[in-house]
Amino acid sequence: VIEKGLPEHVVETTCAYCGVGCSFRAEMQGTEVVRMVPSKDGGANEGHSCVKGRFAWGYATHADRVTTPLIRERITDPWRAVSWEEAIAFTARRFRDIQARHGRGAVGGITSSRCTNEEVFAVQKMIRAGFGVNNVDTCARVCHSPTGYGLKQTFGTSAGTQDFKSVESADVVMVIGANPTDGHPVFASRLKKRLRQGARLIVVDPRRIDLVRGPHVQADFHLQLRPGANVAFINAMAHVVVTEGLADRAFMAERCEDMDAWEAFIAEPRHAPEAVEEITGIPGADLRAAARMFATGGNAAIYYGLGVTEHSQGSTMVMGMANLAMATGNIGRPGVGVNPLRGQNNVQGSCDMGSFPHEFTGYRHVSDDTVRAQFETLWRADLDPEPGLRIPNMFDSAVAGTFKGLFVQGEDVAQSDPNTRHVHAALGALECLVVQDLFLNETAAFAHVFLPGTSFLEKDGTFTNAERRINRVRPALAPVPGKHEWQVACELATAMGYPMSYGSAAEIMDEIAALTPTFAGVSFERLDRLGSVQWPCNDAAPAGTPVMHVDGFVRGKGRFMVTEFVATEERASRFFPLILTTGRILTQYNVGAQTRRTENSRWHAEDLLDIHPHDAEQRGIRDGDRVSLASRMGATTLRARLSDRMPQGVVYTTFHHPVTGANVVTTDYSDWATNCPEYKVTAVQVALSNQP
Ligand code: SF4
Repeated sequence: VIEKGLPEHVVETTCAYCGVGCSFRAEMQGTEVVRMVPSKDGGANEGHSCVKGRFAWGYATHADRVTTPLIRERITDPWRAVSWEEAIAFTARRFRDIQARHGRGAVGGITSSRCTNEEVFAVQKMIRAGFGVNNVDTCARVCHSPTGYGLKQTFGTSAGTQDFKSVESADVVMVIGANPTDGHPVFASRLKKRLRQGARLIVVDPRRIDLVRGPHVQADFHLQLRPGANVAFINAMAHVVVTEGLADRAFMAERCEDMDAWEAFIAEPRHAPEAVEEITGIPGADLRAAARMFATGGNAAIYYGLGVTEHSQGSTMVMGMANLAMATGNIGRPGVGVNPLRGQNNVQGSCDMGSFPHEFTGYRHVSDDTVRAQFETLWRADLDPEPGLRIPNMFDSAVAGTFKGLFVQGEDVAQSDPNTRHVHAALGALECLVVQDLFLNETAAFAHVFLPGTSFLEKDGTFTNAERRINRVRPALAPVPGKHEWQVACELATAMGYPMSYGSAAEIMDEIAALTPTFAGVSFERLDRLGSVQWPCNDAAPAGTPVMHVDGFVRGKGRFMVTEFVATEERASRFFPLILTTGRILTQYNVGAQTRRTENSRWHAEDLLDIHPHDAEQRGIRDGDRVSLASRMGATTLRARLSDRMPQGVVYTTFHHPVTGANVVTTDYSDWATNCPEYKVTAVQVALSNQP
């Protein structure tokens, strides 16, 4: 007899939600998970967790799980359940036929940041070697691709500089465009602990988030900048540092390059805080005081989120923050650095694993003959030296009729990507759309093939969190569809004419290590022995690298980049007088496919529109009224919530529920370097709705 609550055995694994990457013990009774308990020795969480990781895992056994492959000739036909053999043969036949009629480049795929490194690696290999194209991209395209670009340009690698523990040594913390309390709760607890010990805090956000004034937390500065003004703001911060003699000259001279041109640029009076007040909306004196505190307050660290990256100047802003960190000498030791708070559990890993159309694993360009030859030799395949299509290019090409076949691994692009009408038109134009997921999501409505995927409780592999920590994911349950996702990729590649097979996920990691210098020392054996490691992990750093750029930057010298502010073309107007910005809430996760199928939905059953009481009053809107939200792209309806956390002129909503479909209104504007969508700035009008 099993006593209630006592596990028969436990499986050590990793949370499937945010980029904090908390370690958990799945407590088991027989083949049933009865409890998820945060691990005391988890490298990222040290025994802490949030409501998602602790309680929102029931979706893994939800009745909506699809357990067998489904196919259909046309998307208007009903689904037909088939064997794995028939589904793989059907898919390969369609993709081969498309390539025969439209050329090799008419197909491609999207990898998932919710899948393991090994699953992502298998899918990008299937596309590059099996399909013979570099048309592979990842959902990081729509979140942190500017982080990858901006940090590579300045520091030489596409990842955050610190481990989470580093915040415990920070004296000044600047949080820009992130709401850790909701998005990265366990990191937020660590940060708040440091604040209670006396660290100073600068919050840069249009909204009055919890960190500004919450339980036991009071920010020294809340710089309430206007959406779209990030680069003007960061340039003004650096202007104060340079013109008031606060720069770390020794660090700049010894560790950096290209500072003369940058200094001449940033010292121009047009970047002064007072000169950009109209653009930023921040009183010049406040910005000046915050810059002084950042430069002189001891160890100063920057933490940021999608409020930085999801702009038309996302990459420029990342480089601007890197400039500020270098100018103040805040790189290369605990308590400092430039730290992206990455959204999904394995978004860092999906980027590391070669999911971008221009880069192999470890961020090496596909045009590099030496690197490509290494892959070609090991993979026994001819690889294309030209970068492939990014996700927005795939959609544009599908609408134009030149892109016909798409494999989507564990993503719901029909709900998550901007300008829903355009995305739906693209998906509807495909001759073969394959969706691999747990549930028939919004994207599956356009699919010809549905391949059932595995939940994190069934996966064997690794996730990499926002601090580059590679954590083991161990299976507590057998794969519900009967196969691991990497096995499906192998079978599809083989059916396409490229034989591909592995005996285990550990074997895939061995191949990743053989091909990727930053992963050279990573193996399941080492991870099981050490618990986790942070890349780079190789002969030079066998136990991993918690803090990067200690003695020198990965690219040699840190490079200052000139960061000219260019206003977004998305402006408020007479017809669309308010600016919409979007984000997440603690209890839900991204498109909600997982958390909406758990008890968590009790706490956030619908997306709400936060609006300042004055803006609401002007429109005759009361708290709880249904309102229409319209942009030049489309319209939706949702319930209003009056909130003085919002500044006047700015409204805010989440995108967790497909019935709201917040991305119906978001636009095609995107980051100039990476095409990351400008989710954070949409000109809208809000009015009382007569719809129920
Ligand atoms: Fe940790 Fe994030 Fe999971 Fe919460 S959602 S338990 S903070 S990894």
